[in-house]
Amino acid sequence: MERTRIEAISRGKTIMSMLRSFAFPLLLSGTAMPALGAEYQPGSDRIIGAVSVAPKSAAEVAAQCDTRLDALASLRARVEAMPLSTEPLDLLAAYDDLYNLAFTTAYTEPGVIKDTNPDAAIRKAAEDCFQRASAVLVDLGMSRPIYERLLTVGQADISPALRYMVDRQLDSYRRLGVDKDAATRARIGELQNGITAASIEFEGNISADTRTVTATPEELAGMPQDWLAARPAGADGLVQIGMSYPDVMPLLRYADRADVRKRVMTAFADRAYPTNDAVLRRLIDDRAQFAGLLGYSDFAGYDFANRMAENPGRVQSFLDEIDRVARPIGEAEAGRMLARLHKDDPSLASLGSWNSSYALRLIRKEDYAVDPEQVRQYFAFDKVQAGIFDLTRDLFGVEIRPWATEVWHPDVGAFEMVQDGSVIGRFYLDMHPRDGKFTHAQMAPLRFGIKNRVLPAAVLELNVPNGLMEHSDVVTFLHEFGHLLHWIFAGGQDYAAQNPMELENDVIEAPSQLLEEWVWDYDTLKRFATNAAGEPIPAALVEKMNVSRRFGEAFGTMMQLGYAGASLAFYSGVPKDRDLAAVYDAAYNRYALAPDPEGTHGYAAFGHLTGYGASYYTYQWSKALSSDLLSEFRKHGLRDPATAKRYRDLILAPGGSASMNQLARNFLGRDWTVDAYRAELQLAR
Ligand SMILES: [Zn+2]
Repeated sequence: MERTRIEAISRGKTIMSMLRSFAFPLLLSGTAMPALGAEYQPGSDRIIGAVSVAPKSAAEVAAQCDTRLDALASLRARVEAMPLSTEPLDLLAAYDDLYNLAFTTAYTEPGVIKDTNPDAAIRKAAEDCFQRASAVLVDLGMSRPIYERLLTVGQADISPALRYMVDRQLDSYRRLGVDKDAATRARIGELQNGITAASIEFEGNISADTRTVTATPEELAGMPQDWLAARPAGADGLVQIGMSYPDVMPLLRYADRADVRKRVMTAFADRAYPTNDAVLRRLIDDRAQFAGLLGYSDFAGYDFANRMAENPGRVQSFLDEIDRVARPIGEAEAGRMLARLHKDDPSLASLGSWNSSYALRLIRKEDYAVDPEQVRQYFAFDKVQAGIFDLTRDLFGVEIRPWATEVWHPDVGAFEMVQDGSVIGRFYLDMHPRDGKFTHAQMAPLRFGIKNRVLPAAVLELNVPNGLMEHSDVVTFLHEFGHLLHWIFAGGQDYAAQNPMELENDVIEAPSQLLEEWVWDYDTLKRFATNAAGEPIPAALVEKMNVSRRFGEAFGTMMQLGYAGASLAFYSGVPKDRDLAAVYDAAYNRYALAPDPEGTHGYAAFGHLTGYGASYYTYQWSKALSSDLLSEFRKHGLRDPATAKRYRDLILAPGGSASMNQLARNFLGRDWTVDAYRAELQLAR
């Protein structure tokens, strides 16, 4: 039931994605090095200055914000006033200068400070700056004069690489309606406000749902002691079970009684119903109208146009391809779960969604016997960090050394990445939880790397223990480190607007998903995963962990396809008076192998219908892509430096300067396919 969450590469991603553009096939043959504008002198670097992420006061944050916003306003005015007869490459250099200043102002220091500073007043000042700058950025995305100057560049005779970049930027403006007449633009603005309001309301209704389920302590047999202790029975002798994840997820995993699990799941799968039915209708309808005004037949068409998948037909056939791969394995897993449940209750007719977590846990425990306590002793934080730095050196030939600079908390580390004696990027690691800090895991950019001008910089914001870590924490560490490597290795492009966030939205996770593989690799783990006595993790334990992780993967994939199918179905066609429950049930149950209790309305609490829109498929998409990219490493060895170098040069270093369809083709020597993903799912046993 837990929906897999993909963290954005940064918080800024949400608004960045509003300024995103069309995936255009790039023919690398004949690509010339772009000649930068000869006349225009970029000024953004000087205004932005060095990274200053450890402010002493809220006033300092506000002052920096004012300075940058003032500079942004005057740079914008200057670029908007440049004659259209200006040399195209000078116009482009000016546009990129504005891009660099605008995105740096909105997302870098303010984003990091509001998420990490120990001082609440300083965080608040950064949050204020973030809000102000985001509004400025949205307004900039609607600037007709800027659009016209870009259009002039697009009409000039420029290299294919620059054409890709300019077309993508132009499309990002058109996707907000900048080229429409005033009345249409006004209507688009109204619809955008309506979409934002409906999204906030939809999500708010889910978290505000206060329904509870009651159970007697006897009915809660199997629940862990700490869960029970936190939920004592009331005067009526009943335990109240709320709808939060810490209430529900353990219950579905541990409660022995199927009727209690079903009672809780029936409430859980009906959260925010009926309230959200009308809200979702409004959201779907506004998005359909919005897409229509921009020339698309439906919102799914609009949503996919600037992604690798490009159109709804391709997404549907992708879901069907994965379905063919995962279904037989997932059905076998579901059969094994049902068989396990039959041992305790022979009368059980079918596997419902309230049974799957419970059965999965039993099988993992009884058949695979991986003890998380035993695993943890090999993953002390300091050793893991050193191990990841060494892995980076072994694969990519770069050294990581301490960077002597100010930090905002004693826990924070600062580092430089060095290649052949030259610094190529800088980063901070803020890895442990503390009060007031961002609670998930993400990479936040601090500087857009620009060749010969600006070194890329970024922060990892994580919440892993400063001691022994769960293996899943190690996976998260390496995953986020993958975003960081992408950001730094891509930092040598000619333009800020060629950064990795300009890649299609459905691929940004792929390089990180790929890198996760190394913490399942014994040859890598044995180098740093040692216990307090210095003994390396046993090979047999790593083997067991690998077998265990595969079980249930195809079953989970089928559930993910169900969500992806529902997200596509809601935003396909021009919906009027549709029965949302019927649409959802048909799409979800077409794939998912354990249906929700009858009569529930799972879509009312499917929060990703707001942020992901029609694009919930992207998680599976980037997973399949990363499997295919990984196949080159499987062929030549996970730790083969030559393959790693090709991967860095052909996939990571180009950043967002070309479509990932093309980059993958360059690396693989063919179009990418789902074959490698199929092979991985088939590893389950
Ligand atoms: Zn990620």
